[in-house]
Amino acid sequence: MQKVLVNDKGIAWITCDHCKHTSSVDLSESSGVVNVIEYKCSKCEAVYEVTCEFRKTYRKEVSLHGTFIQQQPMEEQAGRIEITDLSKTGIKFRTRVKYDLKPGYILKLTFTLDDRNKTLVDQMAEVKWVNGQTVGGTFIHQDQWTQKKLGFYFMS
Ligand SMILES: [Zn+2]
Repeated sequence: MQKVLVNDKGIAWITCDHCKHTSSVDLSESSGVVNVIEYKCSKCEAVYEVTCEFRKTYRKEVSLHGTFIQQQPMEEQAGRIEITDLSKTGIKFRTRVKYDLKPGYILKLTFTLDDRNKTLVDQMAEVKWVNGQTVGGTFIHQDQWTQKKLGFYFMS
């Protein structure tokens, strides 16, 4: 079985065994360290299973508490969140109650890491998907300080 590595953005590049055509698969919403997917080549339509391996530092299951404040569109939505999944480039969290959040919304997230210094992170995120009270987002406008802090966090 073909084995590929998933990059930081959650994308795996798969080269077809039959026709050598290469295309990408978006796995940014799947969880777990290894995912076996059924891949269908977009060119020759051959179907086979591919093992997709996430980098060890790709994401971390966490239980962190924080808050969100909606920035765009301008609406007064804000509340407490529990972060269940964190990576250097994105986040998954649960809100206490259901909010009217949609893909494309921009949120300001503030949360404390469970590291020794209880590092406070302020980070803007764009909502990518919403499933009830669970929201997935990608970090945007990340400053160097936050990049460094998250970098350290994922090394420990
Ligand atoms: Zn093919």
